[in-house]
Amino acid sequence: MRRDWFSKALLKWYAQHGRHDLPWKKPLSVYRVWVSEIMLQQTQVSTVIPYFARFMASFPSLESLANAPLDSVLQHWAGLGYYARARNLHKAAKCLVNDFAGIFPKDVTTLSSLPGIGLSTAGAIIAQAYNLRAPILDGNVKRVLCRFHGIKSWPGEKKVHDKLWELAEYHTPKQQAADYTQATMDLGATCCTRTKPSCELCPLQKHCAAFSQQSQAQCPGKKPRKKLPTKQLYMLCAQNQHGELLLQQRPLKGIWAGLWSLPEFTDESAIVPWLNEFLGTSGAKLTALSPILHTFTHYHLTILPRLITIRKKAIKSQSNLSWLNNDALAQRGLPAPIQKLIATIR
Ligand code: SF4
Repeated sequence: MRRDWFSKALLKWYAQHGRHDLPWKKPLSVYRVWVSEIMLQQTQVSTVIPYFARFMASFPSLESLANAPLDSVLQHWAGLGYYARARNLHKAAKCLVNDFAGIFPKDVTTLSSLPGIGLSTAGAIIAQAYNLRAPILDGNVKRVLCRFHGIKSWPGEKKVHDKLWELAEYHTPKQQAADYTQATMDLGATCCTRTKPSCELCPLQKHCAAFSQQSQAQCPGKKPRKKLPTKQLYMLCAQNQHGELLLQQRPLKGIWAGLWSLPEFTDESAIVPWLNEFLGTSGAKLTALSPILHTFTHYHLTILPRLITIRKKAIKSQSNLSWLNNDALAQRGLPAPIQKLIATIR
């Protein structure tokens, strides 16, 4: 097999079957490609498209994003998950405006020094926005390369990861960088899918090791399994006589950093004294609502909601607490499980 067989086969397939109408390519700008690439980390194209449209309507330029309050950026991200992406996007926008005069670097090393931009993302941005040769290695590309070369190990292992970068580098052509990059991502997303790949439609089938050995399901190997621990938390749904709900902005570090959530407690008996201290209520009666289950990367969380209706009083001392009506709630960034919980009581 000639070295360029892989890229030629992919480019030919892409011309006919690739996704040519992605909104971040029309009009094409490095800013739009960057935002889309960050949104597409861990998230599928079909989910990203409406978020991307809303984001661009509110932050049409790098400068508008850099000047926006973080809260507003997080609100546009609410529901997409992995909120560190939004915080890093905002941080990187400020950095680009302040330290790079608003101009995106055109080399992978400098671009990947910005918050939230790894080597693969930097490669994807440079290849797509500037049509310059820059290999990428996202999840889809890893899967295609593992299958094509019959690699059954887990790509998270350093030596496997290094080998995959070598292969990505080997196959990336000198010409048509933008099309080739999109083609590799498209093949992984639409043809060489995680389960049930459509090998009968695949342009790489002729030389694909996994196809010839029928070992698609074993390539790439899975991460060694660890049983996730389970945690539980009580969350307070306090509403007042005006229908407002008590929300608390989370610290800027840790889970759901900077988002608005419900006050939480590890111990149920701490809720009433807390209400007395911060809202001056007494004789409060809590009602247990159905638990909500949510899985993070590192653990399962069981949320045990407790509902209470109280008379509105001034909030004492804690500035990160706020009574919010439905309109105000819609303006804040809330984690998806909290939105789900609030929907059950509104
Ligand atoms: S032939 Fe099948 S397993 Fe091989 S790259 Fe194509 S879709 Fe993936």
